[in-house]
Amino acid sequence: MNTVLKRIYDKVLPLVGEGKVADYIPALASVNPNQFGIAIYSNQGESYTIGDANTPFSIQSISKVFNLTLAMKHYGDDMWQRVGREPSGLPFNSLVQLEYESGVPRNPFINAGAIVVSDMNQTRFATPHYAMREFVRRLSGNPDIKTDKVVADSEYQHRSRNAAMAYLMKSFNNFENEVEDVLHSYFSNCALQMSCMDLAKAFGFLANKGYCMINNEQVVSEQQARQINALMATSGLYDEAGTFAYTVGLPGKSGVGGGIVAIVPNQFSICVWSPCLNKVGNSLAGVAALEALSSEIGWSVF
Ligand code: GLU
Repeated sequence: MNTVLKRIYDKVLPLVGEGKVADYIPALASVNPNQFGIAIYSNQGESYTIGDANTPFSIQSISKVFNLTLAMKHYGDDMWQRVGREPSGLPFNSLVQLEYESGVPRNPFINAGAIVVSDMNQTRFATPHYAMREFVRRLSGNPDIKTDKVVADSEYQHRSRNAAMAYLMKSFNNFENEVEDVLHSYFSNCALQMSCMDLAKAFGFLANKGYCMINNEQVVSEQQARQINALMATSGLYDEAGTFAYTVGLPGKSGVGGGIVAIVPNQFSICVWSPCLNKVGNSLAGVAALEALSSEIGWSVF
């Protein structure tokens, strides 16, 4: 595995720095664009890393999977009355479908969907962001995972669009808590700082039938792990999910911090990271690395 990883790293390295870092908030725009790391974690507990695999970065939308997992543990299938399971085919921060679909977002991985799932977790936990941080610390075995307050505050200051979605959902009675409180939790979750290694470990349960080896915990049932993987495969890569399924063929979730996690069911969890993004907001070098890894090792689930 180390030899393959090195070959792919060298092959993709020239692409690092191509594309554009997320610039909708200053705190993300100032990240060094020339970073690139890969971590792979096996169901046997072995890890393989290369490059900047231990550098913490802003996990952003990758947090939506942890958010969903926490809600599914508690609400089970009841949660699907408030959020759908269909790909949106529109940008992650689009509002248009919400109006037509009575305030029920298309899936838990577009912003509107993640915000309504955050509302569910707001109802369930007294301090929802701390519950989330505790959860990812447990899953990754890293008690030092932190929230970047500067990123969270900056997201909150630029919240107009996400706030518009939340208030629209509230107008359709698909919201239980104060919008501003839920937005604070949602942005703090996006602002968690984790490395490729942290994320590969924390996602291990999705490669391992819902079981987290690090902490000997059945996080979700085997069926729920399959369901989360299915949602990642259909909606995890913004409006590039179809192409990602075609070229990589793995359940995945990306974030505008440049991280992408991918699951090889029953074998590995992977995280790649490089901050520069392609046109739809996925890490350009990250997608290239996953394409090369998947085709070289024959990992596609299809
Ligand atoms: N915090 C970001 C937002 O709500 C999430 C961006 C992302 O990674 O998709 O705009």
